[in-house]
Amino acid sequence: MLKITDIPVEGYETVKRAIDAETGLHAIIAVHSTVLGPALGGMRLWSYASEQEALTDVLRLSQGMTYKASCAGLDLGGGKSVLIGTPEMKSEGLFRSMGKFVESFGGNYITAEDVNTKPADMAVIATQTKSVVGLEGKSGNPSPKTAWGCFVGLRACMEEAFGSADLKGKVVAIEGAGSVGSIYAKFIAEQGGKIVVADIVEEAARRVAEETGGTVVSPDAIRQVNCDVYAPCALGGSVNPETIPGIQARVICGAANNQLLDEDADGSALRERGILYGPDYVVNAGGLINVYNELVPGGYNEERAVSEMDKIYNNLKDIFAIAKDRGICTSRAANLFGDRRVDAARALI
Ligand code: NAD
Repeated sequence: MLKITDIPVEGYETVKRAIDAETGLHAIIAVHSTVLGPALGGMRLWSYASEQEALTDVLRLSQGMTYKASCAGLDLGGGKSVLIGTPEMKSEGLFRSMGKFVESFGGNYITAEDVNTKPADMAVIATQTKSVVGLEGKSGNPSPKTAWGCFVGLRACMEEAFGSADLKGKVVAIEGAGSVGSIYAKFIAEQGGKIVVADIVEEAARRVAEETGGTVVSPDAIRQVNCDVYAPCALGGSVNPETIPGIQARVICGAANNQLLDEDADGSALRERGILYGPDYVVNAGGLINVYNELVPGGYNEERAVSEMDKIYNNLKDIFAIAKDRGICTSRAANLFGDRRVDAARALI
């Protein structure tokens, strides 16, 4: 039997745990805010060592979704769900239980695929709730759209740092030749950018280098490469006190979530070094903008979704202006930019 209990957390609208001994479900859904709209965020399946670890992750991720949606100008709040376990324990029963858990939020939480969950799992969720996006045959794989959004964001970063968006001859170091990094690299190469790429799976890096006429370096070397742009497209935390002194780039603009290990301290260190940071959740919002378009009247339309990604350029321009005006780092400026919409909406409630 599915048992749902509250986990009261200050600063969060609703946090609940669900346990179902029959299907092996042990999950948490966190809704950080619905001030701008229903909270949308993916469903992550991960082998957390404890419920506390899962809770910490879901709280951090759901808050990040509030900022991401707000900065992207979407009428969405921030939420996220985590399933505690491994991909081996996936079953229809498990996702049916999880679908009921999602449905218990009455539309306030909308789910989607995330790490270790796939459109097929979302199809099972959809048998229990309408609050799911990213189903097969709708907005599709978000990665190419995230890559396009990064490319749009790169234009704003280049103009700010170099006075021109021209990529001809500019060297871009791509860390992570995965679903997003590989496509982002192609967009850059098409505009004359020179690609240097690294991946812990060397074959993946080699493929991207071949497709873009670029070169491969080791994952250890990519953060210190002599380049104009460093594009983190692998895991978070790659920009930290150890790596910042060695970064040669004038711009950081990539897809990875949580690129700064410590938002304030690392953001300020980059500013002091004169490195322009394109805040991750602003730059990588293309996938969210894409999936959001499933929810708008008339349903998903690729052309409209892609044209809405131009907002990423404008948002970065505004964020860079806030950072300059206030003499603060761009990561803090992005949080202020996100807060503005949430605060304005809250004032109307
Ligand atoms: P992916 O798993 O397809 O690609 C990640 C790549 O990074 C893999 O090829 C992996 O081998 C490589 N990698 C891992 N550690 C590395 C290291 N230390 N050095 C070099 N390479 C390393 O993932 P993705 O979908 O391309 O996403 C990339 C990043 O962007 C993730 O942080 C993800 O959370 C974020 N993101 C993705 C999307 C999306 O639409 N896919 C949307 C928003 C944010």
